[in-house]
Amino acid sequence: MNTERSDHGLSRVGQVKEVTSLANPIIKEIRALSQKKHRDETHSFMAEGLKLVIDALDLGWKIRTLVYAKAAKGKPQVEQIAARTVAKGGLVLEVSEKVISTITRRDNPQMVVGIFEQRYRALKDIHPQEGETYVALDRVRDPGNLGTIIRTADAAGASGVILVGDTTDPFSLETVRATMGSVFAMPIVRASAEDFIHWQKSAGVRVVATHLAGSVDYRTIDYRSKPVVLLMGNEQAGLPVELAREAGALARIPQAGRADSLNLAIATGIMLFEARRHLLALDAG
Ligand code: SAM
Repeated sequence: MNTERSDHGLSRVGQVKEVTSLANPIIKEIRALSQKKHRDETHSFMAEGLKLVIDALDLGWKIRTLVYAKAAKGKPQVEQIAARTVAKGGLVLEVSEKVISTITRRDNPQMVVGIFEQRYRALKDIHPQEGETYVALDRVRDPGNLGTIIRTADAAGASGVILVGDTTDPFSLETVRATMGSVFAMPIVRASAEDFIHWQKSAGVRVVATHLAGSVDYRTIDYRSKPVVLLMGNEQAGLPVELAREAGALARIPQAGRADSLNLAIATGIMLFEARRHLLALDAG
């Protein structure tokens, strides 16, 4: 095999580039993906783990770069995704453990990392159908909450997550990690509060807004006759009046004990599984 070593410590073996130096410009680019500004500029993000990368490729996500640790070299599944990456015009990097743990900021890193193109759906293209449930999140701030909600929405069979207003980045490393791969399965939409209000008026949906001052017990709502959008409030401020007043129902999950409210991701999970209770069965999963 031919190995060429270039100035920045990067060598080429066939289609695979071997990288050992943290100063390598491609590695610097990948490390910069920890900043939202760089993710936005390049429309890309990082996902860790062999299974996640395989799932993403199977679901048609565009991979730009595949990075794997030397220790994973020769594993059939790694060879397969490397070949698929090259076939799609992507770059494959074989790196040292030090490089991969620096990229992922972990002592015990995954052996495989993929850099993918970001993907959003446009709100105007969302036409909810019978039996569908969407989650709309007003200004969600916490990456762990957002990732958990995307994962839970996927598990409940929801059709998409709509991010309303200025929210945390669904493609940050922390959010992607918390989704456990569901970021690749769940359509994600971004919208301003105005666009969301405008859309929901004509989309033929029942918006169920959740609020600590809600007077409707969430278990008494009709989730069957129309597609449902569960509207959840910001972690600190809850739902603003402009959004709350547009909703068909202000739902509340009854609580006991001393806690003022439920964690946003927990409340969303409870709502999702109630809204889809009639559609979920043990043997259908
Ligand atoms: N201080 C905020 C407030 O006064 O609304 C608390 C917000 S709570 C942590 C975040 C979101 O989770 C709420 O806006 C609501 O969507 C949902 N939530 C939490 N507990 C709930 C409950 N018991 N009933 C309905 N929604 C709830």
